[in-house]
Amino acid sequence: MTERHAVVAGAGIGGLAAALALHRRGWRVTVLEQAPQPREVGAGITLMANAVRGLDALGLGTEVHRLGREGATGGLRTADGRWLSRVDAAELERVLGTTALGIHRGALHRALREALPAGTLRTGCAVSDVDPASGTVHYQRGGASAEMTADLVVGADGLRSALRARLWPDSPAPAYSGSTAWRAAIAFDEPVPAAVSWGPGSEFGMVPLGDGQVYWYAAITAAPGGHAADELAEVRERFGHWHDPIPALLAATGPDEVLRNDLYHLATPLPHYVRGRVALLGDAAHAMTPHLGQGACQAIEDAVTLGALAGPEVDVPAALRAYDRLRRPRSQAIARAAARTARFGQELRHPAAIAVRNAMLRLTPSRAALRGMARHADWQPPRPV
Ligand SMILES: Cc1cc2nc3c(=O)[nH]c(=O)nc-3n(C[C@H](O)[C@H](O)[C@H](O)COP(=O)(O)OP(=O)(O)OC[C@H]3O[C@@H](n4cnc5c(N)ncnc54)[C@H](O)[C@@H]3O)c2cc1C
Repeated sequence: MTERHAVVAGAGIGGLAAALALHRRGWRVTVLEQAPQPREVGAGITLMANAVRGLDALGLGTEVHRLGREGATGGLRTADGRWLSRVDAAELERVLGTTALGIHRGALHRALREALPAGTLRTGCAVSDVDPASGTVHYQRGGASAEMTADLVVGADGLRSALRARLWPDSPAPAYSGSTAWRAAIAFDEPVPAAVSWGPGSEFGMVPLGDGQVYWYAAITAAPGGHAADELAEVRERFGHWHDPIPALLAATGPDEVLRNDLYHLATPLPHYVRGRVALLGDAAHAMTPHLGQGACQAIEDAVTLGALAGPEVDVPAALRAYDRLRRPRSQAIARAAARTARFGQELRHPAAIAVRNAMLRLTPSRAALRGMARHADWQPPRPV
């Protein structure tokens, strides 16, 4: 049997997970990353039970459990700290059979990189084009043009995917969701719940990461492109009077630890994720708002599914068509649900609408709240073919 070669464009969480999934099925894999160094942003991330299950299927379950912090009990709150609904982590684990994790992005990225054979990742390589029939990938390295041919090409080049733009030139560019977000991973020794708090047109979330670290994020409805001279001061001004421990979390944050991003998503879903020998994955395929904490989780599901379908004797275009059939409906439904969650939660501003929503949430039995939380995270990796 001749060795099959896969090229992955982009070394984010999705691209590295895809590389690992294909490597585990016996593929030789090359990952082309445009950045000069492999990196992830300095923030935390929530891996819901579906992603933890996916990482388990890639052989990384033990490592991510060691690096992260198992799901803490938490729920939804108002800006003054009243609970709207509570979710017990142990109960959620019982329903889903595995726990969620809070983990530093850098630690997850490193764990994925280190699981790949040396030489897999090539940095400073910006992919510009691909021929879906032959699998020839064109890229720029050090100012020179280069190309590489593969049996399978994975477009994991994120929100502003060059491969999406080449293969689906009519698809609209990512749209501004209407919100901007700040986030930081900080040293914070006191226990915090995994909770999201809503104010009018705003939300603040906190996730324990273990090892004395906490990840917090804050989002507001705002015009795109805004920047403050001091982003931390801006967050303190907006959220510093919210319930405990938000003031303490912000007091423990250094100005250099805060990242700010406008939130964009693929508001018009793609008609296909696949063309010939090329499959899109992660944000390249279905960038969504972060309101369900499912963007990277879906990228991991994509990667695990691709690996499961790409067995040694596989007909690549046929396997990719199966990938599209399995992944597109689910990931696009979750992207729609994330946008709905934003409208129902962070984006709601009208006092009467907020009062109705809060009353509804308070009246929802905890079982139903749990089922709502579990719905999107309930996923099993497909059986390898
Ligand atoms: C504020 C915020 C909070 C979030 N919280 C969560 C969460 O809690 N849970 C969760 O699951 N998701 C969350 N997400 C979403 C998650 O971050 C993304 O869905 C996920 O990181 C996407 O991974 P990816 O690998 O598809 O893309 P990316 O992480 O964008 O990686 C793409 C990679 O491709 C490279 N690249 C780009 N163009 C090229 C090119 N032409 N050639 C070569 N390389 C290229 C980039 O440099 C990058 O390394 C959040 C997002 C935001 C903004």
